[in-house]
Amino acid sequence: MIELKQLTKEYGKGNRVTTALTGLDLSVAKGDIFGVIGHSGAGKSTLIRCINLLERPTSGEVWVNGVNLTSLRTKQLQAERRKIGMIYQHFNLLSSATVYDNIAFPLRLVHTSNSDIETKVNDLLTLVGLEDHRDKYPAQLSGGQKQRVGIARALASDPEVLLCDEATSALDPQTTNSILKLLLDINKRFNLTIVLITHEMHVIQSICDRVAVIHQGGIVEQGTVSDVFLKPQHPITRDFTRGDLDHSELLKQAVNMSSIHPLTSQVVKITFLGGKTYESILSRTVRDTGVDFAILQGTISTLKDTPYGQLIVRFEGESDDISRTIDKLVSQGLDVEVIG
Ligand code: ADP
Repeated sequence: MIELKQLTKEYGKGNRVTTALTGLDLSVAKGDIFGVIGHSGAGKSTLIRCINLLERPTSGEVWVNGVNLTSLRTKQLQAERRKIGMIYQHFNLLSSATVYDNIAFPLRLVHTSNSDIETKVNDLLTLVGLEDHRDKYPAQLSGGQKQRVGIARALASDPEVLLCDEATSALDPQTTNSILKLLLDINKRFNLTIVLITHEMHVIQSICDRVAVIHQGGIVEQGTVSDVFLKPQHPITRDFTRGDLDHSELLKQAVNMSSIHPLTSQVVKITFLGGKTYESILSRTVRDTGVDFAILQGTISTLKDTPYGQLIVRFEGESDDISRTIDKLVSQGLDVEVIG
């Protein structure tokens, strides 16, 4: 659906050039919710603004739905851009226009009849839950309501792609969740491809199917959210996932304790995904192998709709029994990483 090929973006000239994107390749499938996560200055905004050519790349190609946008003339580009909606961190609403008129704005630009606008805007107001606010001005709305107007306006042109530029960064956690739920709902309802940029792992974890981690203008890691989130490879990715389980302190603690333990001990990270999260696999296995365990840290949460659990445990017992325990866990579909 979206292909970015060798995308480079440089700002400035001569010896004052800042390279924001460094020959970046990215591919987003139709119907996916694709997240790009990175620290401030990593190139996220530049990347998302290049997808609809709000920002023209210095070199490389942007393909959306089989069309090379970078090769188009202004008029054709305007037509293609209408198929790409966008929402913003600070909403970008017209402050002197009502909710209704803000949503109607893109339809008026293409001379849609008043009766068609009325039908469309009313449908969108219902979709985003703002039926009772149609005649209000942005200043009379909460942040979450303003973003709902932004979403309705972006959907008015029936886009195939929705770009979300830090769309929840200015919102409190509860409102963030309600906006993420709305994005998930419209993704499912319209099979709308969504690309979002964020610096918050929580956003990725809540609604994304796939994620790319951007650092210094390049993608350092990408894949399904469960692969990237549960088995982060790159140090930057680990930075983002650290909040969940932080090994370093635990490892020190575990190694210290293992030196005073008479039997062998081994610290492992066990990952459960999907239905296995709620099964009693661990207790059944250790009962069978005669190994003891201490839980050093654990979490159970969800990745989009999929439950997952991660435990860091210290196994204690004969080393053969510990190896057997790990093999049995792996054979039952758990991921086990020996970390100490
Ligand atoms: P992010 O969205 O991840 O914070 P940006 O895409 O905004 O990153 O910025 C990437 C790099 O490009 C940064 O070094 C930033 O200072 C630079 N940059 C972004 N926009 C401009 C601009 N209009 N002019 C000059 N440099 C810019």
